[in-house]
Amino acid sequence: METAGGAERGPRYDDEPERSQELREVRAGDVRIVVARYAGYCYGVERALRITEEAIEGAEKPVATLGPIIHNPTVVGQLAERGVDVVDDPDEVDSGTLIVRTHGVAPSVVGGARSRRINVVDATCPFVAVAQRKAAALREAGYAVVILGERDHPEVAGLEGFAGDGAVVVEEARGLPVERLRGKRVGVVVQTTQTQANLASVAAALAPVARELLVYNTICDATEKRQNAACELGAEVDVVVVVGGRNSANTARLAQLCRAIESRTYHIESAAELEAGWLTGARRIGVAAGASTPDAEIDATVKALQELCGG
Ligand code: SF4
Repeated sequence: METAGGAERGPRYDDEPERSQELREVRAGDVRIVVARYAGYCYGVERALRITEEAIEGAEKPVATLGPIIHNPTVVGQLAERGVDVVDDPDEVDSGTLIVRTHGVAPSVVGGARSRRINVVDATCPFVAVAQRKAAALREAGYAVVILGERDHPEVAGLEGFAGDGAVVVEEARGLPVERLRGKRVGVVVQTTQTQANLASVAAALAPVARELLVYNTICDATEKRQNAACELGAEVDVVVVVGGRNSANTARLAQLCRAIESRTYHIESAAELEAGWLTGARRIGVAAGASTPDAEIDATVKALQELCGG
């Protein structure tokens, strides 16, 4: 199995900084408040927001993003106040700049907007871009392309655009059209937020079927790192507060995983939602956050918890 760890991959996650112990733990009297080892913006989100800032400063106006740039209503609201619109369809834009978010889009979407003289700024995460290039390369080399991912996810729609009309999207091994793929040269690319276990089961199911099997492991480990860190924390504390947008799938998943470990888990969008009653008797409180939660919201949550605990 070839991984996406070659020269094309760009920045590596090993560079993603863990929170230092000093930043991670504060006290409020007898209560310790601990932030998960990995929490908040991932590389791709941070980069997309930086690109958006640059567009606000210098790109042709008006500026719009194709879908919310991140799943965080506070950040999207702040950008709206600065004139950045969110559109669902590129045809809603007839001038200025259109920003493609981290999930990426099919090449036809970018081509269509550019043909109408829209300035397209591409904030596709470099890890997603690797998966897109691999999908296109498999199609060009004549492989039957299998995309492992969520059928309705925008990243998968973008990958389909690179993989071509014959590509098959599956969410798990059970969905594989085995007879259609039997005896063929099969190439696999993976939505960046899939789990390694799901990829392993799809690869195992294809191995005896395909004449030749080429698997590009294009999974990015930012999500897994946040999930593992939140679960570790959940096992050590009396209460977990998960902070981030309710429309953020990765944040909601963190809350779900933590709740399975510690039933006193609360998902909030902002510190203002915290309730003192949640903290009764707690000696250790954990704070976890998804890849679309700004540091400012994590910090505000820690501060509010300190105040509620009398620190
Ligand atoms: S989760 Fe990974 S692939 Fe997705 S935006 Fe973040 S860094 Fe990029």
